Amino acid sequence: MKKYDVIVVGGGPGGSAAAKTAAESGLKTIFFERGTVPGEKNVSGTGLSPKCFRDFDFMRAMDLPHERVATMATLHLSDERNVETNMFSFTPSTNAPYPEAGEYLTRNVYRSELDPWLAGLATAAGAELQTSTKVTGVTRDSAGRIDGVKTDRGEAFKADLVIGADGVISTVARTAGIRDKWDPSEVAMILNVDFGAARKDIDAVIGGNALHYWYSALFPVGYSFFSAEGCHIGLGCYMDWWKKNPHYYLDKLFALEGVQQQIKLCKAKAREFQNHMVTFLTNPTTTYSDSVMLIGDAAGFACPFEAEGVYYAMYSGMLAGRVAKKALERGDVSARSLAEYERLWRDSPIGEEFIGGEAIEGFVRGIGFNPDAGRWVIPMINDAMYGLLNVAESHTESARNLPALLTPYLPELVETLARDLVPLGINMSKPPSRPPDARVARALKWLLPKVLPFIARRAARTENRYSEVTTPLLMEYFAKPFVQAKARRLEENGR
Ligand SMILES: Cc1cc2nc3c(=O)[nH]c(=O)nc-3n(C[C@H](O)[C@H](O)[C@H](O)COP(=O)(O)OP(=O)(O)OC[C@H]3O[C@@H](n4cnc5c(N)ncnc54)[C@H](O)[C@@H]3O)c2cc1C
Repeated sequence: MKKYDVIVVGGGPGGSAAAKTAAESGLKTIFFERGTVPGEKNVSGTGLSPKCFRDFDFMRAMDLPHERVATMATLHLSDERNVETNMFSFTPSTNAPYPEAGEYLTRNVYRSELDPWLAGLATAAGAELQTSTKVTGVTRDSAGRIDGVKTDRGEAFKADLVIGADGVISTVARTAGIRDKWDPSEVAMILNVDFGAARKDIDAVIGGNALHYWYSALFPVGYSFFSAEGCHIGLGCYMDWWKKNPHYYLDKLFALEGVQQQIKLCKAKAREFQNHMVTFLTNPTTTYSDSVMLIGDAAGFACPFEAEGVYYAMYSGMLAGRVAKKALERGDVSARSLAEYERLWRDSPIGEEFIGGEAIEGFVRGIGFNPDAGRWVIPMINDAMYGLLNVAESHTESARNLPALLTPYLPELVETLARDLVPLGINMSKPPSRPPDARVARALKWLLPKVLPFIARRAARTENRYSEVTTPLLMEYFAKPFVQAKARRLEENGR
């Protein structure tokens, strides 16, 4: 029986990054993939974020035939009639934090091309790859310690360490006893149709505007993402959310005129219906045990906002490969030794992503994945824009009408701001804010509810334009010094 230093289960982006890192550091490494080739069993298309190219030198050499660079993303809003009412686009900022981020939003590729290329880098580094092999579980020695894996071909392979890179339904996680199945509230089901189209048609219709999000009052947010010669169109939501058959919602997405136009104008032909899962965790907690580390989707590292997972799978794979080397040098693969893995990923961009985990989940559940919120958010946005920009009346009259137009939305807006958006902002602010001093917090909680309604009532009654006096004073003596002081503090912390 062959003995390895490290066995990696799964030949996705995480598995290949782990196998590559481990093999490069001189560890005898094998990785298993159940598909006949890596990528065969995965979602069709994927958007790679600029982070992938900032943090992995080897990614800069990526040159895949069906890549489309997304330089623009568009958010479409549609109301309860399934009619699109608004559309907003954005492009990379000229003040983006690093060069790749200033050039594109994502690079859209096919997993059937990306995964084999990444696996090739791992084998070139010296890792062995065995495809068409499904790992059915970990094995244990006579003392009950994990000492390898067994496969559906009836083989057994021994190793000091096993890295579970086997995706969202991780056999390694379950058979190693690290965790059971995910709770339905922690995982989303995504339905998706893969289309093929001619490159020239997509170039003409879509170009670089290759990421479309469809936010609706009828279905959880959908998407149409374009690669060079195809697109995938779909939607998803938490497993515990679906109130009707998921196809009901998918049909509504496909009934949207904008989606139909994209399909028609690109002359896109449906190739395959796909159904996949991805985690939406607030805080991954089960990522290692004696002799085992979990990476990527197996650990639940997909980002809790929009399920970006390839970067986090590769990053955790790299960290696990490094920790494997150090643990084997120490001759200690116990959970205590492998706790270093969790310390490292918490201290990395992966951990950063989960600082605001709970607040992000509140926002995604409360708004993004919640068409009930779309019922008021979408008309509110439309009424705000219409109220400001319409020419049905004089602009003075429109401005006068604006408060009456928007006031009905206030109760839900205020509740959502308090419940989802303010905590999201606070949790994600940099540097992570400290909890307030308990006495000051108590004083503010006592004082503000008494003072603010009084001010609001007075402000609503007044017919004098005090705001002409107070707004510039507030800006000059409160907002400006606050922003300046905050910027100075951030700069000092950065030094
Ligand atoms: C519809 C959809 C769209 C997405 N879009 C994006 C996107 O645009 N950008 C992005 O960054 N992320 C996206 N994600 C998330 C991303 O796909 C995952 O986070 C990422 O693939 C995780 O990589 P991984 O290597 O951990 O797992 P996977 O990519 O799932 O790879 C696991 C591999 O292990 C193999 N395997 C599983 N079990 C076994 C076994 N028992 N034995 C042997 N092999 C096994 C599988 O065949 C697979 O190749 C999307 C997810 C979904 C569902």
